[in-house]
Amino acid sequence: MARQYPWVLAEVAWSDAQEFTRGTYEGLPLLSWGIAPRDKLATRRQLRAMGLRPGGREPVAILYFRCRRACKKVFARLFLIEGAAPVRPMTPARWAALGAAMAARRRCAQCREDAGTELPRTRRVCDPCRYSVGGLEPWDHLHDVVVGEPTLTAAEHGELDTSGRDGGAVAPVIWLHPPAAAGPAAVCAAERGEVA
Ligand SMILES: [Zn+2]
Repeated sequence: MARQYPWVLAEVAWSDAQEFTRGTYEGLPLLSWGIAPRDKLATRRQLRAMGLRPGGREPVAILYFRCRRACKKVFARLFLIEGAAPVRPMTPARWAALGAAMAARRRCAQCREDAGTELPRTRRVCDPCRYSVGGLEPWDHLHDVVVGEPTLTAAEHGELDTSGRDGGAVAPVIWLHPPAAAGPAAVCAAERGEVA
């Protein structure tokens, strides 16, 4: 069987002479483990460790190797160390812009509140909003916490007479199936039809 990446002599950006590569990958010279010159080429993270950044330069080669921990083949972009620019220092304005960008990731699109955690990029809605708005997908993890459909709005919840309970206002849980003695786990199993 032929090699997947046969050795190829090719013109490369980091040397005047032709160098041995393993062909091309996405239009760039492909290098295998150990043949990339460490003094001339570096990954983005290696540049960062040197206090450098690609600075808008395109990668000049691709390094491939097998990552044991990830159990897969990794393709890393290599940049010319020579063409790298120094890392820009953080200024108060840059810190502020970064903070605003991170806050926008945590803000709920429905209630505009900070959810305290990064929300999914596809649908930036916090869990309480997702539940009160309805339309939960059948596989939504909120089904493990709350069962049934919301019947009251937030205002109606606030007006509920909770004097019979000890203190705090507790949202009523509407059970689709009466809770079994074994607890919520058994209820979930019953919903999936695993228990007769
Ligand atoms: Zn919300």
